[in-house]
Amino acid sequence: MSTLVISDLHVDVLTESGPKEILKGVNLTARPGEIHAIMGPNGSGKSTLAYAIAGHPNYKITSGSVTLDGVELTEMTVDERAREGLFLAMQYPVEVPGVSVANFLRTAKTALDGEAPKIRTWVKDVEKALGNMQLDKTFSARSVNEGFSGGEKKRHEIAQLELLNPKAAILDETDSGLDIDALRVVSDGVNRFTASGDRALLLITHYTRILRYIEPTFVHVFIDGRIVDEGGRELADKLEAEGYESYVKAAAAAV
Ligand code: ADP
Ligand code: MG
Ligand code: MG
Repeated sequence: MSTLVISDLHVDVLTESGPKEILKGVNLTARPGEIHAIMGPNGSGKSTLAYAIAGHPNYKITSGSVTLDGVELTEMTVDERAREGLFLAMQYPVEVPGVSVANFLRTAKTALDGEAPKIRTWVKDVEKALGNMQLDKTFSARSVNEGFSGGEKKRHEIAQLELLNPKAAILDETDSGLDIDALRVVSDGVNRFTASGDRALLLITHYTRILRYIEPTFVHVFIDGRIVDEGGRELADKLEAEGYESYVKAAAAAV
């Protein structure tokens, strides 16, 4: 069972000219089996939310809490959070030249479990996860993210999700830059992840396209560092039709 609770989260981004408040009190509870779509315009702080929860050093949590199954994450290192079962797929994945996909995945799995996976089953598991993402076997010998196409990066992320099997995952714009076939493959992978019914998922996006393939339990509208509206899938359809403008105006008027 995996419940991610974000309570009154305030986050500063550390810039060269000093800290700047980006998140202004975010509340969200993701229960086992739930898919929470977080939708909002560019610059509203969606990636900041993902980075802050994952423990990125440029993002300072000034107040509030984030717990996974009751365990407070905010004081933990990135690695400790991962060991608690948190997974973050980044909007801009980093290249790791000289480290093969196979070694990267094995190191990540070893760090999570505290022991190396058994080679024979692991090789099979990796092949299966890559195959599910329609990535070629030879993919595992390539350097992580080096020269990957946009689609390959995203498929690789979902293969990681499948292999590492975290309790809770945050996918930041996993749909951006995907053609329709890749979107389907990635969405199928995400759906397999949540199908067990005991994993919690935050799906950050600013397009509704991916929600044709992934059925959100809840849709949250994210404007200027806060969740300003919540609903079901019909809210995503409304956003598709009307955009964020009325929300942006209301948020500006409230300041
Ligand atoms: P979103 O993912 O919703 O597009 P972000 O979280 O990336 O939004 O950004 C939210 C705001 O924080 C933006 O105004 C952005 O310019 C600012 N910001 C994020 N990271 C930094 C940074 N490292 N330095 C300065 N400003 C930043
Ligand atoms: Mg952005
Ligand atoms: Mg972003």
